[in-house]
Amino acid sequence: MHSAEDIFNFKATSDECIKCGKCIPVCTIHQIHPDETTSPRGFIDLLGAYQDGNLELDKNAKDIFESCFLCTACTDVCPNSLPTDMVIEEVRYDIAQKYGIAWFKRAFFILLRHRWLMDLMMKLGYTFKTCGFEDKPKRGGMIPRFKMPIIKSGRLLPSLSKKSFLNSYPEHIEYGKNKKVAIFIGCLANYNYTTIGDSLLYILNELKIDVTIPKAQKCCAAPAYFTGDFYTVEKLAKENIEYFESFIDDVDAIIIPEATCSAMIKHDWEVFFRNRGMDMWADRAKELNKKIYMATEWLNNETNLKELLKSRDIKMPQTVTYHDACHAKKVQNIYKEPRELLNQNYTLKEMSDSNRCCGFGGVTMQTEKYHLAELAGKPKANMIKQSGADIVSAECSACRMQISNSLYNENIDVVFKNPVELIAQALKESKGE
Ligand code: SF4
Ligand code: SF4
Repeated sequence: MHSAEDIFNFKATSDECIKCGKCIPVCTIHQIHPDETTSPRGFIDLLGAYQDGNLELDKNAKDIFESCFLCTACTDVCPNSLPTDMVIEEVRYDIAQKYGIAWFKRAFFILLRHRWLMDLMMKLGYTFKTCGFEDKPKRGGMIPRFKMPIIKSGRLLPSLSKKSFLNSYPEHIEYGKNKKVAIFIGCLANYNYTTIGDSLLYILNELKIDVTIPKAQKCCAAPAYFTGDFYTVEKLAKENIEYFESFIDDVDAIIIPEATCSAMIKHDWEVFFRNRGMDMWADRAKELNKKIYMATEWLNNETNLKELLKSRDIKMPQTVTYHDACHAKKVQNIYKEPRELLNQNYTLKEMSDSNRCCGFGGVTMQTEKYHLAELAGKPKANMIKQSGADIVSAECSACRMQISNSLYNENIDVVFKNPVELIAQALKESKGE
């Protein structure tokens, strides 16, 4: 683990790089843009030069630093565990200070900071979506009917749900008092992929575990963090920490069916505050971490779900290939748990490189640098096809958005499901529902 000082000291990180090149073959941007400047080693070198005053943060440097997918594949293999993703997150703050943040990203972050406004926008979006979008339910998304600003024509976007997950259920649900969990749902699962939350509740009901759905939860702030909008990160993280502390003693765990939100809350909040000398907030984030889990991690390790699935003796006809979201496997070491659960009822067919990044990359990559996300998505879509599976699964809605679009672009007929949706489906099947 690198200290806050290391992360600010680009030069020290650069000096620690032994130029072994182990990070280069696994680097998502280097795989599609094979140039030394767009490789972990290159990024680190440039950051050292920037801190030394030998590199100006001009438009070219901005372009280079914004081409990193923040996938952490490099840190995973680096013999010195150099925090390339974290130093790039820091320089993006300098970029945002110097160049500002594009209007559409600022507008998006305002929505993330104000739940009521996001709720209103999503309701309006749902009401009028047929005017602007064509639903593709089998593909799990919708296609814009007209040319839109920022969004490339013809790309598959996540569909909007009639009612958000948080507005669909009461705050407290008693299923049998076995244990009690709170659900942190994440924005994509709240507004777009709402069947994830429905499925999680179905599973908890089967396990007789009581549920709290904390209504005032805010976005985890990951989209703002990856874009250098640290004002939004500080505000959302502090509000969430204070809120979580108000109910943490009443629950056994806060479970999150989303890898990126979970990684942000468990890992990046503490790093963010520690880096800025806000140790009191970093300590509070760290204390909360003891009870925060990815959903499959907690369900597999802390409940009898696996035994329950086995006892139902249901063999589902669909085959599943599991994609390891970067924020699940590389950041949180969660990859066995969802497989163990799915294995009870589904046949798993591993793809050739489940650990390869899907190419989501964050808000900038999905908008201004979409051509890079598109390129990075192709190999993932094709290895999913080659696996021969009917379904691709990952506990991450950012991966879902990117992979569903990549499959659509490549005309590959495989559907994406979160593992909790598949588990709930098997449980329903076992009861003939
Ligand atoms: S975080 Fe990913 S894209 Fe960025 S330098 Fe590391 S491996 Fe490359
Ligand atoms: S693996 Fe680490 S030490 Fe080796 S070149 Fe990459 S960043 Fe440098």
